[in-house]
Amino acid sequence: MNSKTAHSPHSVHSILGALIINVFILTACQLTPTPGTNIPPIEVPTAPSPHSPTPPAPTIPPVAAPVNSGKSCKSSDPDFQCMALKVVSYEDSQMPSVLSEAKALELVDQMNAVWSPCKIGFQMESYLSINPITVGLDFHPNWRTQSTQVRSTFSDSQSFLVVATGSFSSATIAVTQMPGYAPFGTLVEEQYADNPLTVGHELGHYMGLYHLRNSTNLMNPYIGPHTENLTASQCEIARSTNRSNWVHMMR
Ligand SMILES: [Zn+2]
Repeated sequence: MNSKTAHSPHSVHSILGALIINVFILTACQLTPTPGTNIPPIEVPTAPSPHSPTPPAPTIPPVAAPVNSGKSCKSSDPDFQCMALKVVSYEDSQMPSVLSEAKALELVDQMNAVWSPCKIGFQMESYLSINPITVGLDFHPNWRTQSTQVRSTFSDSQSFLVVATGSFSSATIAVTQMPGYAPFGTLVEEQYADNPLTVGHELGHYMGLYHLRNSTNLMNPYIGPHTENLTASQCEIARSTNRSNWVHMMR
């Protein structure tokens, strides 16, 4: 772990060529992947920071349509945590939505299977497909400069926010603001937007989890076909974070 500049406001997971992921988390460490690995990359940044730039006021607050899929994650188990989710998907005149509503619902089902050992589930309560240009955002966002604006534009503060965008045109594929400093939300680029292990991993950051270097763990810095496990400790951290930070998102 090499020391990096200590003032980066974001932790970042990057992909360079075959698969080099740089992760800067508060302590600004750089993680280097095992040479020769062929595990698909993943990832996202995280980053509570008191130095986040003040976002410009959103122009037109877009309205997401309520979803009536009948797929609530409410459970008769009083310990089960059912978390509300808002999905926003970019579209433009050249292509349909990056993540269709049907795909988004399928994604939620798949993530719920991954998170079920923690007694945590998600239900998509609203879905919005939008041309980002109409609200002053770029289809291919520069996540370093536009993530805060994206979150401010779409967050309703009543649900977890996942925004499926065009590609970031950088090594980073997703970013998530960890608990601490609003606005909150996950941005994931189109190639990974329907991957339950990528988005499920990002929601792990949302719920306060950092990386765990274990090739079968959901929070491994690299996402592979078997990175789907969660430990009892991770479950407790996520559940505790939901109780302390996201109680207004529980259903
Ligand atoms: Zn991560």
